Amino acid sequence: MSALTFAGVRKTFGTNVALHGFDLNLQQGELVTLLGPSGCGKTTALRVAAGFERADSGAILIEGSDISKMPPHKRNMGMVFQSYSLFPNLTVAGNVEYGLRTRRIAKPERDRRVAEVLELVQLTALGARYAHQLSGGQQQRVALARALAVRPSVLLLDEPLSALDAKVRTTLRDEIRRIQTEVGITTLFVTHDQEEALAISDRICVMSQGQIEQIGSPTEVYRKPATAFVARFVGTMNELPGVVSGASEVTVMDNRLSTPAAKGLAKGSSVKLLVRPEDLTIDANGMPGSVTSVTFQGASTLVGVRLDVIDRLVSIDVGQGVADSLTIGDRIGVGVNGSHAVCEPEE
Ligand code: ATP
Repeated sequence: MSALTFAGVRKTFGTNVALHGFDLNLQQGELVTLLGPSGCGKTTALRVAAGFERADSGAILIEGSDISKMPPHKRNMGMVFQSYSLFPNLTVAGNVEYGLRTRRIAKPERDRRVAEVLELVQLTALGARYAHQLSGGQQQRVALARALAVRPSVLLLDEPLSALDAKVRTTLRDEIRRIQTEVGITTLFVTHDQEEALAISDRICVMSQGQIEQIGSPTEVYRKPATAFVARFVGTMNELPGVVSGASEVTVMDNRLSTPAAKGLAKGSSVKLLVRPEDLTIDANGMPGSVTSVTFQGASTLVGVRLDVIDRLVSIDVGQGVADSLTIGDRIGVGVNGSHAVCEPEE
């Protein structure tokens, strides 16, 4: 049975439809990310789950029981927001203890749980500090500890990392995943950052305009995007103009490329072929172009190439050592591996 279910949730604000019949199941202990551009309905879905917004229709279920009419404080969900939202007049320990007090849990048990979650987020030494004496990353750890202290059945995280600088963001992201796995808590995580979603999730639910475009593991969403929207939103894509020239073939600049993405499309129709940088290669027999940039990235190198005939810039991700001798202005050929490409019919 699912730990958390959205069953046909629809939510409108006046004439604006924020969620159109939203269906999603989270399994026990699973971390699912809602990923999508600003305004696509991620926060609304989370707020409906938490009970801060009432759906127009549809239901929220916890382990099969409909909780749609239950007020937020009875839903047993922990929340962490983008803003740290700690109580400034309470210490770290006081913040973490707060929810336990309101639930009238006895003092010895409160002390035990506060110590337990502070250890979990590695803040045992800072229990006596106040929010203004903490870094942003530490404040978010406290917010996480506070949410976990009451042992919620579901954890809801709304862009918890976006106010932090890049380095802290990555460290805390990995920490959240470690803690979530250790506690085994079902978690719904909201972000517009695709890199974050790919790194942290068991499954990603990609959303656009209040609708689900695809639900899948990070690998599925990245390698087998269900729509052109997902292909573009998750990871980098090169766009090549082509014409369908066979059952599984697209011709780009006189190069016939075998790709399953062309299946079902009418021969002769114009398409955009979307190809990841790692599916382009340096190939003397490929499409001719000039190198415009060589960007060393450690494990791989990104090579920018302006293709001659279509005057378009593409980015090739080549392995270590392959691009060492390349310089700007060099003439090269670009090959395409079409096996993971996506075809978008031209309007
Ligand atoms: P962001 O990443 O910018 O937070 P989001 O994907 O979380 O975006 P939502 O905040 O869920 O998007 O908003 C979805 C749509 O609903 C948007 O068009 C937004 O303007 C609208 N909306 C959200 N809350 C309200 C509200 N209280 N009143 C009116 N419209 C709202």
